[in-house]
Amino acid sequence: MTDTKVRKVVVIGSGPAGLTAAIYTARANLSPLLFEGLPSSTSDQPGGQLMLTTDVENYPGFPQGVVGPELMAQFRSQATRFGAELLTDKVTRVDLSGPPHGIWIGNPNAAEPSFYAWAVIVSTGAQSLMLGLEAEDRLIGHGVSTCATCDGFFFKDQHIAVVGGGDSAMEEAIFLTRFASKVTVIHRRDELRASKIMQDRAFANERIEFLWNSEVRQLNGNTKLEGIRLHNNVTGETSELNVTGLFIAIGHQPNTDLFADQLPRKENGYLITKSDSSCTDIEGVFACGDVQDDVYRQAVTAAGSGCMAAIDAERWLEATGHG
Ligand code: NAP
Repeated sequence: MTDTKVRKVVVIGSGPAGLTAAIYTARANLSPLLFEGLPSSTSDQPGGQLMLTTDVENYPGFPQGVVGPELMAQFRSQATRFGAELLTDKVTRVDLSGPPHGIWIGNPNAAEPSFYAWAVIVSTGAQSLMLGLEAEDRLIGHGVSTCATCDGFFFKDQHIAVVGGGDSAMEEAIFLTRFASKVTVIHRRDELRASKIMQDRAFANERIEFLWNSEVRQLNGNTKLEGIRLHNNVTGETSELNVTGLFIAIGHQPNTDLFADQLPRKENGYLITKSDSSCTDIEGVFACGDVQDDVYRQAVTAAGSGCMAAIDAERWLEATGHG
């Protein structure tokens, strides 16, 4: 193990959580090294999920709103200003049997890790499951959304649709009735997966209508969503729905493959952190942001938990004599 390869703090992931952890650990003189990932797929998107949004109006400090990628550029420049080193590279393997823990970039089968880190902050985020439609990438942030809390406000008095039959879809649909003139829930079966209480609430809401046994087959519109084509999987019929917004609420997936069999995960795949902290079960490994949050999933909560992880890491480094 050469000294140049041993870092005090390595942060994996560059969304609001990871970059906040980098800002805090940089300002604590811990010279963090942060891996941003590669732009080869949306799951590796440097900057995280906000890179897929347009206007962000609920991030405190931006009363006029801010465009998602611009907000992440600001996070990034704040981290580098204090000396965080950002590498646009993808971590391909970790060995968390330390500390120090091993981090590989490039060939995961290389005998030696590319770096060692006393403290590892995991902030690899999560991704919304998508329908896999051709125009989805183009129209996300332009009528297609995965977050009602973030984007519902933009659809005042409009007819919008929600896809999914689980608790998330019901929650999104109910929330969206605050703004929309009508919300159509599109579900692929004829019964919901959502809990009884959420079903009852949705059924009781006069602004929500349900389309059963229905699948979204096409998104219409070039620069913004202008409607959707539906397929009824019982009758085989095709129909058009003139909605200006489509909220996809078919579940989320945390980006935890890298840590399989090393970090404890909940049944739904999210990393487990100890109560009121960012500490995992492994010494020197901390988790923050959406990779460990299946409840709030907001940029501001992710940033807050990134701050917690940085402080936890800093205290742990100090206590173990590696700070
Ligand atoms: P979920 O329970 O897995 O439900 C996903 C829904 O999307 C299902 O109805 C599923 O249909 C549908 N779906 C999946 N893939 C699809 C596709 N490709 N095309 C069309 N539809 C598709 O996910 P979730 O609603 O995000 O909930 C995740 C967990 O969080 C659950 O345990 C839930 O209870 C919890 N949660 C709780 C609350 C709350 O209590 N307030 C709020 C949100 C989430 P099928 O039913 O046919 O499989």
